[in-house]
Amino acid sequence: MADILDTKIEYLKGTGPQKAALLNTELGIFTYRDLLEHYPFRHEDRTKFYDIAEITEDYPYVQLRGVIDNVQLHGEGNKKRLTAQLSDATGTVELVWFQGIQWVMPKLKRGVEYVVFGKPNLFGRRFNIAHPEIEPYIAGQSEATALTPVYPTTEKLKKRFLDSKGIALLQKNLLETVYKQIEENLPPSVMEKYKLMPRRQALLNVHFPKTSELLRKALARMKFEEFFFIQLRLLMQMGARKRQNAGQVFRNVALLTEFYNKHLPFDLTDAQKRVIKEIFGDMKSGRQMNRLLQGDVGSGKTIVAFICMLIAIDNGAQACLMAPTEILADQHYNGLKVFADKIGVRIAKLTGSTKTADRRPLLEDLKNGSLHIVVGTHALIEDAVQFGNLGLCVIDEQHRFGVAQRAKLWEKNPQVLPHVLVMTATPIPRTLAMTLYGDLDVSVIDQLPAGRKPIQTVHYYDAHRLKVFGFMRQQIALGRQVYVVYPLIEESEKVDYKNLMDGYESICRAFPDVPVSIVHGKMKPQDKDFEMQRFVRAETKIMVATTVIEVGVNVPNASVMVIENAEKFGLAQLHQLRGRVGRGAEQSYCVLMTDFKLSKEAKLRIETMVRTNNGFEIADVDLRLRGPGDLEGTQQSGILDLRLADISRDQKILQAARETAAEILAEDPELSCPEHLPARQQLQRQRKQQKGWGQIS
Ligand code: ADP
Ligand code: MG
Repeated sequence: MADILDTKIEYLKGTGPQKAALLNTELGIFTYRDLLEHYPFRHEDRTKFYDIAEITEDYPYVQLRGVIDNVQLHGEGNKKRLTAQLSDATGTVELVWFQGIQWVMPKLKRGVEYVVFGKPNLFGRRFNIAHPEIEPYIAGQSEATALTPVYPTTEKLKKRFLDSKGIALLQKNLLETVYKQIEENLPPSVMEKYKLMPRRQALLNVHFPKTSELLRKALARMKFEEFFFIQLRLLMQMGARKRQNAGQVFRNVALLTEFYNKHLPFDLTDAQKRVIKEIFGDMKSGRQMNRLLQGDVGSGKTIVAFICMLIAIDNGAQACLMAPTEILADQHYNGLKVFADKIGVRIAKLTGSTKTADRRPLLEDLKNGSLHIVVGTHALIEDAVQFGNLGLCVIDEQHRFGVAQRAKLWEKNPQVLPHVLVMTATPIPRTLAMTLYGDLDVSVIDQLPAGRKPIQTVHYYDAHRLKVFGFMRQQIALGRQVYVVYPLIEESEKVDYKNLMDGYESICRAFPDVPVSIVHGKMKPQDKDFEMQRFVRAETKIMVATTVIEVGVNVPNASVMVIENAEKFGLAQLHQLRGRVGRGAEQSYCVLMTDFKLSKEAKLRIETMVRTNNGFEIADVDLRLRGPGDLEGTQQSGILDLRLADISRDQKILQAARETAAEILAEDPELSCPEHLPARQQLQRQRKQQKGWGQIS
C-alpha cells in the first residue's frame, strides 16, 4: 500500500514546483515525511500577553500588547536609529530599530493597538526591545491558541515567503492532510508500559502544542521512537551475527590457574576479575566473541588481555595483539614478555620495522603454530601473516583502527572466526558505548588498582612559567621524570612546530644540566623510538613531545605531565595525556598551562580536569560540550540521524528504549508477531531510505 507520507512535497497545498524545488535544495525536503520530520528547534509562547511591568531579564522572548507613542528618528547615516514607546496599563518599554527604518516607520501609528514580540534587553536600568515583530492587534486572531513553532530555514527560502511562519503554514496544511493516516509504529505493550503519547498526536504536538506540558510529552514519545528503532536495528544485526558466527570453544584453564597461583604479581581488582569472567563466558560459549573492553588509563587492561590470551593458548590456539603505533606495540610486547617468559609461552613482535631476516622465521612459527603470541602494529594484517590457529585477536585503542581492519584480522582464521577483544581507554558513557558499539558487547573496568595516589591537577597561566619550571626542577631533584606536551593541530602545523621548538629551546636553557628528549611526528620512527627508549631508561629526565605520546606509553617513573596550551586540547585528549603519569608509587601531578584569555568552553574543560580524575565523568562533560558528532563511531551507529533526541541529555530515554528493544527481540527475534508488524515495517522503510546502513562490522 502506498504511504501518503511518500507523496512529493510539490503536491502539498501551498507549495507548487518552485517552492518545492527550493525546499529540495535548501533543506533536503522531498516528501511529506521529510517536511513532517523538519521539526521546530524551539517554540515561542504567544498564547499569552505579558504586562510590561513584569518583564525581567529572564524572559528570552515576550509578547506584549499596547499602544505606540513618541516615534523618533535619531542620528545620521549608519548611526540612524528609530525609537518608539510602547505602553500598556502597567508601564512603558522602548522599541528600537537600526535597519529597515523606511519600512517600519510608516507602520507605526498612534492610537492603534499593537502586538509586539521580541527579546527584552536591559539597557542601563530600563528594558528595550530591538527589532521586535510588530503587527496591529486584531481581536480573536492575535491570540495564538498554541505555542508557536520556530523552524530552521534559509535566506533563499525566506525570500520565497518560506520563513519560519511560512513553513509553519505548510506544516498546518500537511498535518490536516495526513493526520488521520499517521499510523502507530510502536507495539501497544510498549505504549502502555511507558504511557507514551500516540504517534499521530505526538507529531501534531511536536509542531503545534497547546501547552508546554503537551510539548514535553510529545517530545518524549518521539525521542523514545528515535532511540528505539536505532537500537532495534543494532540489536538485530548483533543477534544475526551471533547466530551466524560460531566460535572456538575454550574450556581449559590449567595454564591460567598456574599463572594465577604462581606468577601473578598483584591481586586483580574486583573489576578486572568480573571482566575476565565475562570474557571467559564468551570464549566458552561456542559463539564468536566481539567484546569492547573499556577501562580508564591505568585500570590494568593489559593483564586482562594477557589472561585471556592464556585461555586461548591453553586450548591449542594462538593470540595476537594489535596496537596503533610502534611505540605502543613495543611497550605491550615488553610488558607481556615478562609474564609470558614466566609461564613458558612464546611471544614475538612484528612491526613495519621488523627486519626481513627476523621476519621469515617468525612468520613460519606463526604458521606452524609454535609461536603463541604475536604483538604488533597493522603489519599484522598483511597477507603474509598467517596463523596455524588464531583464536583471539586483541585490538588496543581501537579508535585508531577502522572497522575494515578489524574485519581483516577475522579472516586470519579461515576455519573458525577468532574471538575479538577491543580495548579502549576512551571513556565514553556506558549508554553511549552500547549505542555506538551496538555490535559489540561491552565490559567495563571501572576501578583502579588499590594504592594509586590520585593525580593532582593544577592550572597555571603562561605568565607563571618560572614557577612551573621551579616545580619541575624540584621533582627532577627527587629523581622523577617530566613530560612537557605541546598541541599539534594540523591547520596550524607550522606554528605548532615553532611553538614546540621554542619550548624545547627554552627548557634546554632553563635546565642546562638536565638531559632532555624531544619526540614529534616529523621524526623518523627509529629516531622517535631511540628518544623514547632513552626516556624509558631514565637517561633523559624531561620529554618534550607533541601528542605522539598520547596513547598508552608506560613510564612509571614519570610523575609530572605539563601540558602547554592546554586550552587547545579537547577533554578526552587531556585526560589521555594525564593518564601517562600516576602509574608508579609516587604522587603525580598534571600541570595545565594556558593563555590568560580563555573561552567559556575552554574554562569549563580546564575546571573539569582540575576537579576530577574520573574518566566517565569527564566523558559526560565532553559529550555535553561537543555533542556526539565528534565521537568515533557515531557515523556508523545512526546516532547522527537523531533529530529530536540528544544522546547526552536523554540518556534515560535511551536506556529505556534499549531495554525495550532487547526485550522485544528476546521474545520475537524476527519481529514476526502481528503486534510487531508496524515496527518491522518502520525498519524496512528506514533501511530503504538509507541504503548502506548495512553492516557495521
Ligand atoms: P591500561 O588499562 O591503561 O592499559 P595497564 O594495563 O598499562 O593499564 O596497567 C597500568 C599499570 O598498572 C601497569 O603497570 C600494570 O602492571 C599495573 N596493574 C594492573 N593491574 C593491577 C592490579 N590489579 N594491581 C596493581 N597493579 C596493577
Ligand atoms: Mg594500555
